[in-house]
Amino acid sequence: MRQADSHTSVPTLPSTPSLVASDHDRRALLAALTFIDKPPRSTPALAAWFDKHLVATGRMPRPTHVTEGFSQPVALDPSASPGADEAELGELVDAARLRVLTSLRAFMPPASDDRFLSAAIAGGRVRCAGDPGVWEPSPRVEDPLSDIVLSLLAADILNFREFHDAYLCVCKTCLRIDFDPSRAGRTGCPEHQPTATVSVMRRSRPPL
Ligand SMILES: [Zn+2]
Repeated sequence: MRQADSHTSVPTLPSTPSLVASDHDRRALLAALTFIDKPPRSTPALAAWFDKHLVATGRMPRPTHVTEGFSQPVALDPSASPGADEAELGELVDAARLRVLTSLRAFMPPASDDRFLSAAIAGGRVRCAGDPGVWEPSPRVEDPLSDIVLSLLAADILNFREFHDAYLCVCKTCLRIDFDPSRAGRTGCPEHQPTATVSVMRRSRPPL
């Protein structure tokens, strides 16, 4: 377990240590990116993800069951022997991950659809606390798994909107996440072209 923990790297991030710096709490973002980067597809892995990123940080108790979309609730009991639910849990985690990434892809320009932020606020899955107000995730045990992960992202985006508007990249083709738009724009990746913005730039350039 400790070995696996040390490999919970988030290579898509420019500087992971900066995410846990005391003056800028980015642990919610780190938790979400860890889920996306290394999806916890087994009961022990998902329970450990909850314990480390949500229980230890005081956000919520570990749920006894997880749900997603129309799937049946799957028990999350790490002490139970691996059973038939393992395959279901893996599919549920994949479905949750896909919904999270699809929401982030919609958040990219030119659409910049940020309705998942207002949905998180309206649903009480993030709350503004302290003075000055800082957004923090407040998911509930009965929330679908994707909403729990999105609450982590929503809190960080609400706190650091300019950072995400400038650096968050989601490949429109393969949904890969990065934070370096200099490589392939905000909607591409090393293997896929970004959404074309060249025509916009050409239009705005004065005639030669
Ligand atoms: Zn790609």
